Amino acid sequence: KNNQKSNEDLIQYRKQHLGKSLSLQYNIPIKMVRGAEQYLMDQYGRKYLDTVNNVAHVGHEHYAIVKAGQKQMALINTNSRYLHENINTLAKELLETLPPELSVLHFVNSGSEANELAIRMVKATTGERDIIASEVGYHGNTNMTIDISSYKFDGKGGQGAPEHTHIFPLSDAFRGKYRGPDSGELYAKEIQKQIEDIHKNGRGVGALIIEPIISCGGQVELPKGFLPKAYEYIRAAGGICISDEVQTGCGRMGKTFWGFQLHNVVPDIVTIGKPLGNGHPIAAVACTQDVAEKFANGMEYFNTFGGNPVSCAIGAEVIKTVKREKLQENALQIGAFLKAELHLLSMDFPIIGSVRGQGLFLGIELVDHKLNPLANQTDYLENRMKAHGILMSTDGPDHNVLKIKPPLVFTKANAEELIFYLRKIFAEDAMQLND
Ligand code: PMP
Repeated sequence: KNNQKSNEDLIQYRKQHLGKSLSLQYNIPIKMVRGAEQYLMDQYGRKYLDTVNNVAHVGHEHYAIVKAGQKQMALINTNSRYLHENINTLAKELLETLPPELSVLHFVNSGSEANELAIRMVKATTGERDIIASEVGYHGNTNMTIDISSYKFDGKGGQGAPEHTHIFPLSDAFRGKYRGPDSGELYAKEIQKQIEDIHKNGRGVGALIIEPIISCGGQVELPKGFLPKAYEYIRAAGGICISDEVQTGCGRMGKTFWGFQLHNVVPDIVTIGKPLGNGHPIAAVACTQDVAEKFANGMEYFNTFGGNPVSCAIGAEVIKTVKREKLQENALQIGAFLKAELHLLSMDFPIIGSVRGQGLFLGIELVDHKLNPLANQTDYLENRMKAHGILMSTDGPDHNVLKIKPPLVFTKANAEELIFYLRKIFAEDAMQLND
């Protein structure tokens, strides 16, 4: 009872003294006090299965990661103007996973900062500032990255696309402008249209920025053939290509270590965030030698915390752990099992209109018979799953996509438990479709 009051106190204090636009998840918010593997624990000792947190990539509070951070923190932490092995070690670990064309790294502290730096690189490389980005894309919270994030500027409180941002329609083969497995080329043509618009204004193309699976857009997979064609158009116009791997990177896709590799393309810039620190703030930008050289135009790039020995010790241990514990393989196997089970579930419950994603980065979309989005049911499901101790999240422009992106240590038993409770809740009255 006392604890209940303390949650209310925390909420009241937040309302008064913390940012007014911070949000809280769930109708009744939770206070988490411990994390381990794919589980979280609240102050009452209640255990939750986490199907949401793609930041706690190798598992919450993984022993090897905590130890690496603690050990380095006790020795030295300083900026990257001093030599240190850790920054080189992390660079080597990452470069082993990337194609040889992407051979230069810059370390930063968040996904937003990574994309911010990527856009500076675009300007330095191409001399252009016009950026082509996806509808409902999200790339960060800074001025520049908000300016390329339709998820924000086309949403509540936003003011639409700025002059130098060019948005093409969400390449959603289920409910988007073009539908079906052959829609890739049509969506790529939408990018060509944006290129032509830029030219009409007498300007040139800076870059295309896109995620390999559009996460905030509702786990939207890019249709086959779309990305290679899009890259071709952008490059023919003198622009460069950025793959935002902040959510999709570091083995989560299962088949590949990075999302762009699913599409057989090589970007000029890759931005890496969330999973790299397993919860510690570290992010990175990988680029080609050409981009790196043009960016180094004489102005020093300095970043107080970027590439510090503690962050790099943690980042390197995360990548080593993914490799040592074969977590990419786990994402492939468990992800395939879970996706197949979700497909079976969708046969019994037609409210599930689409099951999609790769590895342990999946989504299910709830719609009625006419493909209208069902946001209320999605919200109900999320809150009911919480009541059964399973944490899930929802997203998409119509708030009707349930996202599944757990720590990569998620097991087959976890997947079975998840399906068991989904099946139970999909059978409840509130989830039935009216004919
Ligand atoms: N890019 C993508 C695709 C993201 O999902 C996010 C965060 N949700 C960001 C960039 C920004 O990262 P951060 O919040 O670490 O600044």
